Amino acid sequence: MSADPAPVHRRTLRTPADLVSAGLAAPADVPALAAVAGRYAVAVPPALADLIDRSRPDDPIARQVVPSAAELEETAEDRSDPIGDESYSPVAGVVHRYPDRVLLKPLLVCPVYCRFCFRRERVGHADGTLSEAEMDRALAYVAGATAVREVILTGGDPLMLPAGRIAVLTEKLCRLPHVEVVRWHSRLPVAAPERVDAALARALRPPEDSEVGVWVAVHANHPRELSPATRKALRVLAASGLALVSQTVLLKGVNDDPQVLEALFRALVRNGVKPYYLHHPDLARGTAHFRLSLAEGRAIVAALRGRLTGIAQPTYVLDIPGGAGKVPVGPEYWDEDAGIVRDWTGRGHRYPPE
Ligand SMILES: *Cc1c(COP(=O)(O)O)cnc(C)c1O
Ligand code: SF4
Repeated sequence: MSADPAPVHRRTLRTPADLVSAGLAAPADVPALAAVAGRYAVAVPPALADLIDRSRPDDPIARQVVPSAAELEETAEDRSDPIGDESYSPVAGVVHRYPDRVLLKPLLVCPVYCRFCFRRERVGHADGTLSEAEMDRALAYVAGATAVREVILTGGDPLMLPAGRIAVLTEKLCRLPHVEVVRWHSRLPVAAPERVDAALARALRPPEDSEVGVWVAVHANHPRELSPATRKALRVLAASGLALVSQTVLLKGVNDDPQVLEALFRALVRNGVKPYYLHHPDLARGTAHFRLSLAEGRAIVAALRGRLTGIAQPTYVLDIPGGAGKVPVGPEYWDEDAGIVRDWTGRGHRYPPE
C-alpha cells in the first residue's frame, strides 16, 4: 500500500491564512500580511506556488509573488501612478500616449498579483472590468483614432478574458482598416499555463482574410518560470502562428544577476520567444525593496553583451516617471567627444577610424 501523497493546494492562494497553510508564510506574519492584503491584491496560483523552493527564505519566485511586510514601507519617491497612465486616458480602459499605439485595458484581474506591479493600486478589482457599454466606447475611440496602427491589450491580464470574448475582440480590432498589429501583454503562460489551450490560441488568431499581425508579449522574470507547463503553453501559442516576445522586470533579489538573466533569456529564445524589454523597476508604492540604481542595472546589462547571442538581448528601458514614455537606458558604447567606440570587452577603438 502506498501512502497518500502530501496534500497539494490546487487552488489560488489569496489570504494570509492560505499562505500559512501552504507553508509560504509563518503564523506570526499574519497580522502584517493582512495589512498588506488590505492595500494590494494577493494571488499565488498553483503553477507558481509549485515552483517555490520552501527551503530558501530568499526564493526568487516567492519574492515576486508572496506578500511581505516590506510592502508597508513607503519612500518619498513612491508614486501611486508611476508611469502616468491616468493623464493619458481619453476614455475608460484606454491609454493613448504615442500617436501610433494605444493601450486597451479590458479588465484589471490577473492570475497572479506580482508584488512589484506598477499598476498595483489598480489591479485586483473586479469593478475594473469594462462594461459592455464602456468597451463599446473604448473600441469607438480606437476606431476614430486613425493614426493608431497597433492596439496593445493589457490590464490586468487580458488573457484572463474568456476565449469567446477574446475572439470577438480580435475580430473587431482586426477589422479596423488602420490597425496593423494587435499585441497582448500577459503573464498567463507563466502563472496559469494550463489555461493556454487550443481554444485560447484559436481565439487570438486573426480572421483568415486579415493581414493583421498578432503578437503576445509574455511577462517572465526568472529562468525557473519556464517550467514544462509554461514551455508547452508557449509552443501552443507559437503553433497558432502568433509571434512571441517577452518582457522582464529587473528586480533586486530576483534577477539582478547577469547569470540569472542569461539563463532566462537563453530559455526564452530556445522556446521561440524574443526577449523584448528589460524594464527598470518603477516607483510603485511599497516596492522600494525591489529597486536598484540605473548604474547597477547598466552594469548587469553590460555583462551580457558579448556573452549572449544578439537575439537574446532585450532593450533595457526606463518608463520615465510621470508619463513621458519609455526610453532605452542601456550601456553606451560610443563616446562622441572622444571619438572612441568600446567593444564588448571594454577596449576602446577610434571611430571613425583614422
Ligand atoms: C509601454 C507603452 C506602450 C508600448 O510601448 P512599446 O515601446 O511600443 O512597447 C504603448 N503605450 C503606452 C501608454 C505604454 O505605456
Ligand atoms: S501580471 Fe502584470 S498587471 Fe498583473 S500584477 Fe503582475 S505585473 Fe501587474
